[in-house]
Amino acid sequence: MQENLKQILKNHSLRITDCRLDVMQYFLDEKNALSQGDLENRFTEYDRVTLYRTLNSFLDSGILHKIPNETGSATYGLCHDTCSPDQHDHNHVHFKCNACGQIQCLNEKQSMPNISLPKGYQAEGVNLIIDGKCANCA
Ligand SMILES: [Zn+2]
Ligand SMILES: [Zn+2]
Repeated sequence: MQENLKQILKNHSLRITDCRLDVMQYFLDEKNALSQGDLENRFTEYDRVTLYRTLNSFLDSGILHKIPNETGSATYGLCHDTCSPDQHDHNHVHFKCNACGQIQCLNEKQSMPNISLPKGYQAEGVNLIIDGKCANCA
């Protein structure tokens, strides 16, 4: 498993550090979107700045993407394998559970609504969040 993680870091041209390996493992285990606060609770051995920098290096290199969320504290989800620093493909749907508060990426390909924009406007991304109850809470 560690080898696999190292390979992911290498593929994204990131130096291998303990913090990066631990954070990546956490995201892979968790499957839900995580916030900086979740990481701080889980990894007391790393300080906030280290965790913040780790998140940002993952964002920049296409390992994670930011999921907008009305509470103001950003959550992060793992990207598809296809993401790279120049080509982020994040037009997928997110699901937010109103009971437990977990946010998940629904990575299956689905057609996004085709929303017509006023003349002269150019879309660069779509954020679609469905809220309701997840399978655990329903
Ligand atoms: Zn739930
Ligand atoms: Zn996502």
